[in-house]
Amino acid sequence: GSVFSNLVQAPEDPILGVTIAYNKDPSPVKLNLGVGAYRTEEGKPLVLNVVRQAEQQLVNDSSRVKEYLPIVGLADFNKLSAKLILGADSPAIQENRVTTVQCLSGTGSLRVGAEFLARHYHERTIYIPLPTWGNHPKVFTLAGLSVKSFRYYDPTTRGLNFQGLLEDLQSAPSGAIVLLHACAHNPTGVDPTPQQWEQIRQLLRSKALLPFFDSAYQGFASGSLDTDAQSVRMFVADGGECLVAQSYAKNMGLYGERVGALSIVCRAADVASRVESQLKLVIRPMYSNPPIHGASIVATILKDRNMFQDWTLELKAMADRIISMRQQLFDALCARGTPGDWSHIIRQIGMFTFTGLNLDQVAFMTKEYHIYMTSDGRISMAGLSSRTVPHLADAIHAAVT
Ligand code: PMP
Repeated sequence: GSVFSNLVQAPEDPILGVTIAYNKDPSPVKLNLGVGAYRTEEGKPLVLNVVRQAEQQLVNDSSRVKEYLPIVGLADFNKLSAKLILGADSPAIQENRVTTVQCLSGTGSLRVGAEFLARHYHERTIYIPLPTWGNHPKVFTLAGLSVKSFRYYDPTTRGLNFQGLLEDLQSAPSGAIVLLHACAHNPTGVDPTPQQWEQIRQLLRSKALLPFFDSAYQGFASGSLDTDAQSVRMFVADGGECLVAQSYAKNMGLYGERVGALSIVCRAADVASRVESQLKLVIRPMYSNPPIHGASIVATILKDRNMFQDWTLELKAMADRIISMRQQLFDALCARGTPGDWSHIIRQIGMFTFTGLNLDQVAFMTKEYHIYMTSDGRISMAGLSSRTVPHLADAIHAAVT
């Protein structure tokens, strides 16, 4: 027999498993709203024109070779990524207080940051919002951190439980790490207002809590790269320290290229330099160094004024299409007279709507309407189109009546 014959079959990943179930469904009307990947009006994956252009440029450059990158990745990419999230005029960058390492998309950036904190930070507890992206607790636990949660979403208002958030962070031990979604909170689509962010900032700083931002949707939420970075920039403007994990999966459509960055903003340049030296010791035994292609695409786009401009337009078009899907779905439910208040569909922001549909209603919609989503009732607005909105609205209507 096999040395592994005692292994039990592991369950599918709760998010990626939705697509596996979808792929098995032969129905012509099936709809996959599970995975957070952008689709066009025609329901097709999108490669941005500016990405194609950058790739063409890279292919045509015969001086390019396939040598290993350094442990920390592509230098240009790191510098430009820090500028993108912190702002071109960020004093922290000018004062060399930021260290940035290229990582494997958002997930890898979170993992490297968490491994670093588990080794070198004095407080091992990380507070994550309730609910949050399903991978967060696993990434942090496996890195050796102890995971606790703070109240975030209020199911009765389908908005932010701001009082609960403040109370829970107020009673966190001094120095604890706090995971914050920079914008477009996944799965709820609920973000604090700028005034609420300011209160959160004051609370974190007064208790010496360490912010760890997860920025997976910069530009994808509002359509503006700067607006979606405001939360992070507030925390850097006060001179304090924080970590930021960036992903280019959504905003450049580079999902499978696995390109992202971890920045650690420190109080002083000498600290940042020592932090970077230790990050290298974290990365080397994990995967030695990151892949070159995706980071080269990003660096090509970020450093060219025209390509950067083209990117912002394509990014805004994706964000606008999602916002318009929210309106269309909301209007379709109003037109059907579907019972309940559905205004959260247009209030929430980013890729997902947290519908409020329960487990049974989700199961009903999958069985009767071949609509696939995560069991918490989260639907990806990016997977919808004008053509499929009526089918979804019919299904929701039937599920709640
Ligand atoms: N954080 C959040 C909140 C996300 O929604 C995602 C993507 N689903 C990620 C991180 C990481 O994605 P990736 O590793 O593909 O960049």
